[in-house]
Amino acid sequence: MVTRKSRREIEKMRVAGRIVAEVLALVESEVKPGISTAQLDRLAERHIRSAGAVPSFLGYGHRSNPFPASLCISLDDEVVHGIPGERQIRDGQIVSVDAGAIYDGWHGDGARSFIVGTPSDEVKNLVDTTRLAMMAGIAAAVPGANLGDISGAIEDAAAPGGYGIVRQFVGHGIGTEMHQEPQLPNYRTGVRGMKLVPGICLAIEPMLTLGGHEVSVKPDGWTVVTTDGSLAAHFEHTIAVTDDGPEILTRI
Ligand code: MG
Repeated sequence: MVTRKSRREIEKMRVAGRIVAEVLALVESEVKPGISTAQLDRLAERHIRSAGAVPSFLGYGHRSNPFPASLCISLDDEVVHGIPGERQIRDGQIVSVDAGAIYDGWHGDGARSFIVGTPSDEVKNLVDTTRLAMMAGIAAAVPGANLGDISGAIEDAAAPGGYGIVRQFVGHGIGTEMHQEPQLPNYRTGVRGMKLVPGICLAIEPMLTLGGHEVSVKPDGWTVVTTDGSLAAHFEHTIAVTDDGPEILTRI
């Protein structure tokens, strides 16, 4: 079931979203060669908790293999769900950071790919296009449109560059849980999908690659990599559909 959030509920999601945006800004200021992904994770967890929120990723998943950190940090050919650890960031890497926070029971979820150092044009274009594809999807999230319009807008932004669009992981509804209905593919499915009305909250999160769309999960049970080893990028905002159009909640 797709739930519509009230103004008061969206106000709480706005707080959660702002905390997520602050975490990503903090990471942006700290990510540089030599810092470990675990150090970034510790900074993020401290910020989330000091803001009065709870990291939503920490302990997420089945109890046999809960996610062990507050951030997902995915490097280069890792697409999403990378586990922070003692690995140090190197010059030239794509560092994709996903953050989630729960404030008073309401979720915010957002991600950005950072490029450390000087990227090749190919990498810069991949990262720029992934961000623009997300923004195109957000722009399509207006009352009266359909869910499939968001998917189509994302695909149209990604397709001209020939990028792989990851299909196995998709955007999602969000609210009192991180993942709610509906699922939101980043490509056309041939289905128009539900009508968008004010109060619907979505995490819009395209994942693009320099190769194919196929992904695999590493033996740690979490880290998603491109099957062909190609580089990947990931951007995500939590948004609310409002009478005035889409509102980005994961912003400062
Ligand atoms: Mg998400």
